[in-house]
Formats: sequence, structure tokens, C-alpha cells
Amino acid sequence: MYYSDQTTLFLDGQFVKAKDARTDLFSQTLHYGYGTFEGIRAYKTVNGTKIFKSHEHFDRLRKSCALVGIPFHYSSEELTQISYQVLERNNLSDAYLRPLVFCSPNMSLTAPKEVSVMITAWEWGKYLGDQLVKVCISSYQRPNPKSVKVEAKVCGHYINSILATTEAKSRGFDEGLLLDSRGFVAEGPGANFFFEKEGVLYTPPLGNILPGITRATVLEICHELDIPVEEKLFSPEDLFEADSAFFCGTAAEIIGIESIEGNPMKKTWKNSLGAIVQEAYKCIVLDKSYSYVIV
Ligand code: PMP
Repeated sequence: MYYSDQTTLFLDGQFVKAKDARTDLFSQTLHYGYGTFEGIRAYKTVNGTKIFKSHEHFDRLRKSCALVGIPFHYSSEELTQISYQVLERNNLSDAYLRPLVFCSPNMSLTAPKEVSVMITAWEWGKYLGDQLVKVCISSYQRPNPKSVKVEAKVCGHYINSILATTEAKSRGFDEGLLLDSRGFVAEGPGANFFFEKEGVLYTPPLGNILPGITRATVLEICHELDIPVEEKLFSPEDLFEADSAFFCGTAAEIIGIESIEGNPMKKTWKNSLGAIVQEAYKCIVLDKSYSYVIV
């Protein structure tokens, strides 16, 4: 599903067939989750294939490595060029790109001297689908920023995400919403969160969440379209009276929420501020003007 016999990926300076690519079973990343990654989307736009905010994603990859002491020497421009080549060699335009920085063999708990970088791509529909999602409040908290670097996209952190999504699905929901270690709403397992109340959008501030590139784009859209938006801490109880809510992330894009712990949103999605943001986001990634999106 993620690759076929024909798939070519980038690995440490070379383009190789995915089926022939090899890694070491003693990689520190495999044993301890000590590696970093990105999730990026490319779109078939009116101006050809465009990778959305490629530099922002590779800058975050570099930052993630720096935060946890993983050496990383590629420039964002270099990795952007490589990513376009990966797309071209695989004949892809609407695709999801996955850069991964993984460590060399090392069974000690020390930072590596060398790392490997791979970039691969595949066609991937919207991560949470097209339908409104039913969300529960997760019993799992986001990792405590005093235990890990929450603002880094580190492989091992995704155990927390897998636990939260698995729990949500086993309770009959589509996705979970995780609180931070103080009990404030933080984010989804793989997406940031916004809710609407009385004409204002609210989202948690940075500190206990991954600084999402889609989240930043949503904030830009709001400023552009004069949609009032505030970054502030709030509790799950504040959501039960929300007018609307949505998750946003590269893989999920903008996806509306139907209910939170069974409490339906007060507005229908099509009348919500989120629907306006969703429309504008679609235009931006496709390199189209969104000035026509009227608030
Ligand atoms: N939070 C978490 C935990 C994530 O994994 C992601 C996906 N990278 C996001 C938020 C959204 O980030 P972005 O918009 O940069 O994809």
C-alpha cells in the first residue's frame, strides 16, 4: 500500500528501489524510538505539482533533531529539491511525503554521530476521511514537556498517539482529543484542534502541543479573512457548549467535528467558521486565490 516494486525512495544521498532499501536491526531508532520525521503534502495545482510549505516542514525537521541532539546536516532547500525528485521519479503529484531521520546502530542511550535520512512518498487520502468525526476526550495525556520535547516530531512520541487513537476507536469514536498534564485541552493524536464559540475561534497556545504547520496556516487564514482567533488554554467542559470544532494537520487537512463525548456541536458544519477556513485552506494548497471566500 505504501510502496510497490516500482517505488523509488531517497536514502542517504541515493535514489533506491523501496523493495531493495535496507536498514540495520540495531538502529537506535528501532529500539528506542529515537528518530525524527515529517509529514508533508504535495498537491497538483494550477501551476503544476507543489509541495505545500516544504521549507517550513524541513525547518521543523532540523529543529526536531536539534532539540533531541540528533545530528542533521541537510538544508531545507536541498531536501525540497530531493522531495520534488522523489515525486517525479514515482510519477506522483497529489501525494504525502514522509521524510525520516533515523539513527545508526547504537544500543547505548547516547546521541549518535551519524544518521540516515530517507524520503518516500505515496498517495494518501485525507487521514481522518471526509466525514465529520466523533471525538472523545482521551484518558491519555499528551507527553509532559518536562519529560520530552513536545514541540519536536520525534518517532517515540507517537506511542502516545497510537494509544489515544486505539482507545478512541475501541470506545466507538473516530478520534481522541488529548489533554495536557494540567488538564487543559491540547491536541489530537496527529492534528491540532480549534473550536468556535460566539464568533471566535480558540486554539491552545504553544507549549504542550506540536506547533502544527497547518495550525499556523489556519491562523494566517483567520488574520487574512478577519476571523477573530485566540490562542488560549481551555478545559474539556468548555467544549460541550461549542458552536463548532475541527482538527487540522497536514495528513487530515481541515476536518470538522460532529460531537465531543456525545455532545453535538451547536452549528451545522456548513455554517461554521471552520467550513470557511476549510474552503480557504483548499484554495491555498492548490495555489488559488481565496479572496472570494466571504466570511
Ligand atoms: N499534532 C500532532 C501530534 C501531529 O502529529 C501533527 C501532524 N504532524 C499535528 C499536530 C499537525 O501538524 P502539521 O499541521 O504540521 O501537520
